[in-house]
Amino acid sequence: MDNKVRVRYAPSPTGFLHIGNAQSALFNYLFARHFNGTMVLRIEDTDLARNVDNGEQSQIENLHWLGIDWDEGPDKPNAKYAPYHQTERNDAGIYQKYIQELLDKGLAYKDYATEEELKEMREQQKANGEPPHYDGRWYNASEEDIKAAEAKGIKPTVRIHLPENHVYEWDDWALGHIEFNSDNIGGDFVIQKSNGLPTYNFAVVIDDHLMEITDVIRGADHISNTPKQMAIYEALGFEHPHFCHISLIFNPATGKKLSKRDANTLQFISQYHRHGYLSEAIFNFIAFLGWSPVGEQEIFSKDELIKAYDPKRMSSSPAYFDQRKLDWINAQYIKKMDVEELADRTMTLVHENDSDQAKRVADLNLDDAALKALLVKVIKIHQRDVTKLIEVLDHAWFYATVLDQDLSYEDFGKLDAAETKQVLLAIKDGVAAFDGQPSAADYSALIKQVGKDTGVKGRSLYFPLNITFTGKSSAPEINEIMAVYSTTTNLTLLDRALAALN
Ligand code: GLU
Repeated sequence: MDNKVRVRYAPSPTGFLHIGNAQSALFNYLFARHFNGTMVLRIEDTDLARNVDNGEQSQIENLHWLGIDWDEGPDKPNAKYAPYHQTERNDAGIYQKYIQELLDKGLAYKDYATEEELKEMREQQKANGEPPHYDGRWYNASEEDIKAAEAKGIKPTVRIHLPENHVYEWDDWALGHIEFNSDNIGGDFVIQKSNGLPTYNFAVVIDDHLMEITDVIRGADHISNTPKQMAIYEALGFEHPHFCHISLIFNPATGKKLSKRDANTLQFISQYHRHGYLSEAIFNFIAFLGWSPVGEQEIFSKDELIKAYDPKRMSSSPAYFDQRKLDWINAQYIKKMDVEELADRTMTLVHENDSDQAKRVADLNLDDAALKALLVKVIKIHQRDVTKLIEVLDHAWFYATVLDQDLSYEDFGKLDAAETKQVLLAIKDGVAAFDGQPSAADYSALIKQVGKDTGVKGRSLYFPLNITFTGKSSAPEINEIMAVYSTTTNLTLLDRALAALN
């Protein structure tokens, strides 16, 4: 393939960036970057009633967060192809020109049927056991009928006239050879709404043609739109691009297509961010929804994915959303990432204050330096066992508020009371003797010394400390946890534990 590849991600700002949108954006991105092509961002905003406030902004911000960028778009216009909002393109008369051309050639016509008539037609078809289709009632309408409808003030739609028994076929990157017959695609369909705006199927064809898009990569929910778009390409004498219909994402719990109503599954990219998934991990995870590389490797950096990407390996079967795999991938990225970087990202979550976990930590009112120091310590302790950054926030909040926590001393019951007391008293003496803020190494040395002095070893030495400082008998490196606390906190916790022992 040469470097003329041009692909586009074409969101409708009718909602926030969903995992399905991100999947389309990501495969367009991988395709563009793999083939040294151009990635275009086009905003399909003609469905005015469904556009949401901030929809476009949210799409763009979340794409940036995911590490997906583009070469052309509203923010990076190329004069040859601009503008990049369909509403602006409509205002510039771009679609009208082609609508008129089809009308003039008799390949499209005005339809004055009212909503009620159309509804009645569909009901009749249903009653007859026929699939719903437009019956062509305004094709070749008489001058009189048209005048009468105009006189009634009916605003017409424009429909394209389909050839009979005509095959639309294409070789899909993901699905292989696909065919539809023009007789089975619902009849002549609307290309311009009565409000003058083009329909999605029409605008997308005009734009993909004018923007010289070579490969249209989008969700499999658009498969049935493709023959309609091919009908428009043919009517206008344009060559159609290659198509790639990406597997839809299925919820393994329901066995159905992932739905925005599936409340137990995170689906919006902003939610992944808010829950402390790393953008690199999400990128990696999504790349496997509908595609797979050769071999068994599962962790891929963005650059590795760009290199390995092969559109011939796009899958034709449903992509199951595997939450455990997502968590596993995220944990792998957390384990590999630099502690400072993780602390900075966790700090961003606190500043964004967008989850209960972040709010609790923000409410500690630590200055940035103290917060960062706390997070670095907590990450050093928990980098190996957390799957998401909000767990870091949970741990940080716990340690910062340990004196307000209701620690359980129940597990002392499983230990030898005399030994436990001996250990705690010796640790207490050691802590009281420290100056300033001891380090994790200082605490480690102290614990070893106490072990030596008391002759208590292993779990008999460590369990009392774990219980005293965390309320649980098993904990990660307890010396590191002690170093998160101030010595006063440690002394208070020791006193409370000793009181509980008695
Ligand atoms: N605006 C359409 C959507 O969001 C784009 C579909 C396409 O890529 O053609 O589904």
